[in-house]
Amino acid sequence: MRAIQRGVATRARADVADVLVVGGGVAGAALACALRARDATKDLRVVVVDGGDANPAPKRDDAIDARCVALTPRSRAFLAHECGGAWDEIERAGRARAFDAMQAWDGVGGGHATYDARELGAASLGTVAENRVVLWALERAGERLGVERVARARVTATKTPEEDASGTPARATVVVEDAGKGGKATTTREGGAGGGEASERTMEIDARLIVAADGPKSATRTAAGIKVGGWGYGQRAVVGTVRTDRAHSTAWQRFLPTGPIALLPIGDGTYSNVVWTTTPSEAKRLAEDASDAEFAQAVHDALQGQGAYKSQYQEDFNRFATLRFVEDVANQVFKPLARAARTTMSKVVGVPAIEGADEAARLDFAPPFRYPPDVLPAGEGTKRGSFPLSTHHATRLIKPRLALIGDAAHVVHPLGGQGLNLGLRDAELLANAIADARALGQDIGSVNALNPYARASVAANAPMMAALDGLQKLFANDTYPVALARSLGLAAVNATGPVRRKIAWYAMGGA
Ligand SMILES: Cc1cc2nc3c(=O)[nH]c(=O)nc-3n(C[C@H](O)[C@H](O)[C@H](O)COP(=O)(O)OP(=O)(O)OC[C@H]3O[C@@H](n4cnc5c(N)ncnc54)[C@H](O)[C@@H]3O)c2cc1C
Repeated sequence: MRAIQRGVATRARADVADVLVVGGGVAGAALACALRARDATKDLRVVVVDGGDANPAPKRDDAIDARCVALTPRSRAFLAHECGGAWDEIERAGRARAFDAMQAWDGVGGGHATYDARELGAASLGTVAENRVVLWALERAGERLGVERVARARVTATKTPEEDASGTPARATVVVEDAGKGGKATTTREGGAGGGEASERTMEIDARLIVAADGPKSATRTAAGIKVGGWGYGQRAVVGTVRTDRAHSTAWQRFLPTGPIALLPIGDGTYSNVVWTTTPSEAKRLAEDASDAEFAQAVHDALQGQGAYKSQYQEDFNRFATLRFVEDVANQVFKPLARAARTTMSKVVGVPAIEGADEAARLDFAPPFRYPPDVLPAGEGTKRGSFPLSTHHATRLIKPRLALIGDAAHVVHPLGGQGLNLGLRDAELLANAIADARALGQDIGSVNALNPYARASVAANAPMMAALDGLQKLFANDTYPVALARSLGLAAVNATGPVRRKIAWYAMGGA
């Protein structure tokens, strides 16, 4: 067993790690892999303790799980290149689906904004994958990289020093719930910190750095006396799986007054993950009471603006027909003009001519509205669930020997599909900070070493949190003037290529 090397006095009878990650969700598992995958940090002893079991390998004919995530190209690149090839595992499992277009539209006023990957010269705007498949891939990568995982175990107490550079390690008490059944409690030692007879299922781990990756209700954060600021939305997000009448590769999102409904392609593209934000009573009906067929019909109606989900202004706006007409006319007029100008310029001053559909798409003045596919039941074996929604941010992300990442640090509304992407960004930023600290010979648990992480994480999270919260509030208002202004705003975004591209770039994790 390696002892903690620098700046920490090893106590008798406690096991020691360099980095102890509390919580093996995607954020914690990715950080552990990223640390072991880098030259600068690959010799660190990284231990992950998680309450759950190891995730089983997905089989091609398994029903699609309701808990899915839309990962940005940035997150995908991080998983591919910095987490020991975890992305390759996800690809090989053959269940993730890339989307190359996104369309958001107002369920009251009807305005829309449509984004296309070709406009940005990108292959996709994101990829949808099941949470459990991402976790399985990270666990496999972690095994190859030598991450020590203690599964079916809970950290029941953590103690971090108040003073920096004190030489005192952080200490965690871990209870292995089922050590005999493959809990991999290889780090268990006889006896506890107090020196008495301890249960063989309990162990103490000292660490130079504890990372709280234990989710939104982080007990590690609470034990460190760190508070959170934020609020609940009084809403729930219903998740489920449906089929569509054709394969598609678009992320659709319609904003209803009760909250947005998103349809995200997954698997071979004939399946879709639904994330539907709504009132608690409707969430109960959709998640618990409705049959598969009723759920699919409700999703179909909500996306098409039919039945109970028809806008009260829909007749007035006629699906925002006037604006759509203006957009179409603008397209008809400007696109040929732009083509003619480019052709002339290519002859006169050698500007390359327009070649292929991708380039032509960039000249769309305002991408026309696209109709989502018809929604069908996914069949037996698919499950649904619902989650309460809130947003919060920890008042601080670090203290001596402690860093918070992922939902333990911040929670956002799921309407932009950004929560886990921010968590993966944290993992990347913290791995960078630890690698830099090592290069400078700093103690990796010191505030000096962790400060660059805290600064960079807040700079990435704060604007996104504000944007998502603002959008949630803006679209929750269904009064006529607000709906009209909102739809005009969407139409303006849709008609302004540079703005449209900037928004898509930001949503792709480009900031
Ligand atoms: C409906 C919905 C849809 C979403 N869609 C998207 C999306 O499309 N894109 C996106 O980026 N994000 C999305 N999110 C957000 C995303 O799911 C979360 O941000 C993400 O799961 C947080 O990951 P995490 O690893 O930080 O925490 P968690 O996933 O909560 O993992 C925490 C882990 O810690 C473990 N744990 C907790 N306490 C202890 C303890 N004491 N000891 C040991 N282990 C412990 C738990 O077992 C768990 O495994 C969505 C969220 C919701 C609710």
